[in-house]
Amino acid sequence: MISPHRTFLYLCLFVFAPPFALAVDRLSIPLADPPQWKTLAKYQNTITRDEFERLLTGVYCTHGTSEELIRIDLAKACILMDHDAQTWFTLRFARHEPKRKSASRRKKGGVLSGLRIALDPGHIGGEWAKMEERWFKSGDALPVEEGEMTLRVAKMLAPKLRELGARVSFVRDKTEPVTPYRPNDFKETAREILKAGGNENPREEFDGPDDPLKDQTVRWQSEILFYRNSEIRQRARLVNSKLRPDVVLCLHFNAEAWGDERNPTLSDKNHLHLLVNGSYLPAELEFDDERFEMLQRLLSRVSEKEIAMADTVAPVLAKETGLPPYQYTTDNVIKVGTSGYVYARNLMATRLYRCPVVYFEPYVMNSNEVVARVQAGDYEGTRPINGVERPSIYREYVDGVVKGLVEYYRAARR
Ligand SMILES: [Zn+2]
Repeated sequence: MISPHRTFLYLCLFVFAPPFALAVDRLSIPLADPPQWKTLAKYQNTITRDEFERLLTGVYCTHGTSEELIRIDLAKACILMDHDAQTWFTLRFARHEPKRKSASRRKKGGVLSGLRIALDPGHIGGEWAKMEERWFKSGDALPVEEGEMTLRVAKMLAPKLRELGARVSFVRDKTEPVTPYRPNDFKETAREILKAGGNENPREEFDGPDDPLKDQTVRWQSEILFYRNSEIRQRARLVNSKLRPDVVLCLHFNAEAWGDERNPTLSDKNHLHLLVNGSYLPAELEFDDERFEMLQRLLSRVSEKEIAMADTVAPVLAKETGLPPYQYTTDNVIKVGTSGYVYARNLMATRLYRCPVVYFEPYVMNSNEVVARVQAGDYEGTRPINGVERPSIYREYVDGVVKGLVEYYRAARR
C-alpha cells in the first residue's frame, strides 16, 4: 500500500523548487523559501502596539533589533521586506486587543479528544546516523543512536496519546530521510556556499570525522545541506501543507560533546530542557527569510500556547526523570516561563512549523547513566542501573510527556 506520506513526497519532487536553485541574496541559505509577505495581510489590525512590543522584546528579539529592519510608530510598525529593493511591509496596529477564541473545549472522550498531535522524531538515524554525527559506540557497548531512539519514543508515545483521544501523525516514521534529495544533489550549492565564504577551490572529500578542516570540503557541506537543511525544510512542508496539526512535539535526546565517536568522552552530567521558538540573534534577523518567519510566528500568536504548554510539561517530565534543568552557557537563548526548564531559541524546526511547537531535549546521551540505560533497552517494571532501580529510559520519557500533556490540556480545555 502506498502510504499518504509517500504520495506526498512523490508530489514534492515536482512541486517544489529543485535544490540547485541559485542563491538568492539575503536569504539565510540558498534552500530557503523566499518570504511571502502578502500572507501577513490577514494580520492587519489584529495586535496592539503594546502586545507587539511585548512579544518582540520578551520572546523574539530579546537581543534587540535595528531601526534598519523594524520601525515602530504609534499606529503602525514598518518591517523591511527586501534588503536589496528596500521595500517595507506596513503592519497597522489594533486599538484594542481583539477578543480571541479561548482554547477549544474538550468534547466527549479523553482529555486529548480531537487534538491533532504531530510527532517529529529528531534526526534520521539508521544508515544516516554517522553522517548526522548522532552515533557513538563506547567499547563493547551497543551503539547509541539518537535518530533510532527518538523514533522508538515516538512509536511508544503515539498509542498512549491515541488512547486519550488525540489524532496522532508522524513527521517521520522510519529511519529514512523525509526529503527526496541526497547529499550528491547539493554539491553545486555546497560549492557556492564555500565560494561565498572565500574558498574558490575546495577539496571534494574529508578525512573522517576528525578532519579539522572538514567544513571546508564539498562533501561535508553537501551532507549538512542534506540532513539538516533539506530534511528539516521538507518536514516543514509536510507539517504545514498536509499534517496541519494543532501542535508538533519534536523529540530529541541531548548530549555533551563526545569527541571521537568510537572512543567517546562519557560525562557525569545529565539534564533536561525544553525549547520554544524565539530569541533571534541580530545577524539572523538580517536575513529576509528569517525576519519574515519570525514575524509570521509572532503574529500568529503561537508563543503564548507553546510557552504555556512547555512550561507545564517540563516540570512533570523533570519529576518523572529526576533530571535537573540544563543551564545554557551560550547567549543564543532566553529563559521563558517560570519552571526554569524552558528556553526560547531560534531553531529551524521551531521556526518553520506553522503551529505551536514544543522541542524536547531530555537526557545526556553520553552520560554514564544513559549509556547504561540504552544498553538495558526497553523493559517492563524496573531494573538495577548502576545500582539504582530504574524503569526503561524510553517508558520514562513517554510517561513524562503523556502526564505533562494531560496536565496542560486538563487545565487549558476545561
Ligand atoms: Zn537531537
